[in-house]
Amino acid sequence: MNTKIKNNNFIYQIINEDFNKNKDLSFYTRFPPEPNGYLHIGHAKSICLNFELANIYKGRCNLRFDDTNPMKENIKYINSIKYDIHWLGYKWYGNIRYSSEYFLKLYQYAQELIEKGLAYVDQLTKEQIREYRGTLNTPGKNSPYRNRTIEENRQLFNKMKKGEFSEGEACLRAKIDMKSSFMVMRDPVLYRIIFTEHHQTQKKWCIYPMYDFAHCLSDSIEGITHSLCTLEFQDNKRLYNWILKNTSVKHYPKQYEFSRLNLEFSILSKRKIKILIDKNIIKEWNDPRIPTLSGLRRKGYTPSSIKLFCQKIGVTKQNNLIELSMLEHCIRKELNQTAIRTMAVLEPIKVFLYNLDQNHEEKFIVPNHPNNPAMGTHKIIFTNTLYIERSDFKEKYDKKYKRLKIGEKIRLRYSYIIKAEKIEKDQYNNIINIICFCYLNTLGKKPKNKKNPPVIHWISEKNTFPAEFRLYNPLFNIKNPEQQKNFLFHINSESLIIKYGFIEKKIAQKIQKNNDIESFFQFERIGYFCLDNIDSKKDHLVFNRTVNLRDTWNLKKIGTKNITNN
Ligand code: ATP
Ligand code: MG
Repeated sequence: MNTKIKNNNFIYQIINEDFNKNKDLSFYTRFPPEPNGYLHIGHAKSICLNFELANIYKGRCNLRFDDTNPMKENIKYINSIKYDIHWLGYKWYGNIRYSSEYFLKLYQYAQELIEKGLAYVDQLTKEQIREYRGTLNTPGKNSPYRNRTIEENRQLFNKMKKGEFSEGEACLRAKIDMKSSFMVMRDPVLYRIIFTEHHQTQKKWCIYPMYDFAHCLSDSIEGITHSLCTLEFQDNKRLYNWILKNTSVKHYPKQYEFSRLNLEFSILSKRKIKILIDKNIIKEWNDPRIPTLSGLRRKGYTPSSIKLFCQKIGVTKQNNLIELSMLEHCIRKELNQTAIRTMAVLEPIKVFLYNLDQNHEEKFIVPNHPNNPAMGTHKIIFTNTLYIERSDFKEKYDKKYKRLKIGEKIRLRYSYIIKAEKIEKDQYNNIINIICFCYLNTLGKKPKNKKNPPVIHWISEKNTFPAEFRLYNPLFNIKNPEQQKNFLFHINSESLIIKYGFIEKKIAQKIQKNNDIESFFQFERIGYFCLDNIDSKKDHLVFNRTVNLRDTWNLKKIGTKNITNN
């Protein structure tokens, strides 16, 4: 291929140079998830990078499950990972690959290292291995089993494979250098014994290759040219290359590292997300409060918004914390174009228009989008009893309060100007009814010689359909929970606030009729919402707040109420 593709990210520069050296290079990447959890936004960064590069350079990208630890893996995770990659809109090349497909080949490569005197069966305990390894400041010590003969190692490794050792009793280690300044080169473990049944190979194996051994060899077997991984594998590259150099592989992939994505107010480690689930802090992997792809999808994020985000953050070698507002900006920008505008009242309070007849009923046709007539219209009903947001009326207020108050006027969106005159309270002193006068000559007209009053949203009692609203705030009340010793100390107690209110009947009918699984709405003045496909039933609609109308996390303290946004 002879294309010079321009992009300022360093990986493109590397690939362009590779193509300059070899115009016929067949470009090949892979995405290698470990099926021990669901994918998150950090994985999306890696997916976008690997698959987009393959598209741009007319190469291929494999999906390979890095399934070398049956104790933590599970078919449920495999299925969710496949689903999420498809959902993002990417297609892997050919069949799905599994590292476990190569177990026999990997075993043979290990035998080859033994034959070359480059691997030995060690029988130190796990703790002893750790102790003998030394530290960054002190060199390691050789294991007393390090100088076993090739014949001895050959037999013992075979014994390991046959299940004649128990777990932890023996392992295979590379014979490199216990004094190396790189810890990974101090005789790393290559194989260990695990008696757990494997989801792909069942009971066939009881020895499993370690990540470092399986990864480079799987890359080589698949003909991967550019093996892209995150920065923490920088040192492991030495081992990656050592293994390739000392086995009879025919193909030498090259590893390149980029920085991991870290996102404000979020945890992006599968192990820690699992702790949140196990401790019942969140419900499941698809809880909208965590940035797993299934959680983001449920919250109302679209594939295009996630891809835009990955494009915006770029690919570098600097570790940094990405602002949450950047992710939110990407979905807000899209929903601003695509979401249907409608009114919803999350915390209803009744308004009674006393000068209207009991049977007064008008229908207004309102646009589904103010700037896009192609999105159509829908009907709303106006009668003498309606609901407004509790926060849009105040009995006691300060000067700054610009909404409904006794003696003041307000315009009902798409409708008339009203003036609050009296309130009615229940026995507990709660306001239950605001009695108002309706100015019937103000429909679509500015009041003469006066400023237009503020506008609020409303729903006529006759037009209501009950709904549950789930308002999400960040799960953590600090920006970088991942760096805390105990991230569980920093949970935001207001990460989920539930409200029971109303949506417009016509919208509910549309959802029920179409069985709409992808319904995105802007509830006017409140925020962008989507239907929760999991908990919604025909007669009980649940809406998740995707994002506020404006960026607020940098302005307000997390943990303070952030319900309506005006
Ligand atoms: P976690 O820490 O979430 O458990 P992991 O690195 O163990 O992640 P894998 O399933 O091994 O998860 O990751 C598959 C691929 O996704 C790897 O190439 C890994 O480098 C990449 N990846 C994982 N997390 C991130 C992240 N936060 N940013 C960018 N890439 C990531
Ligand atoms: Mg991993």
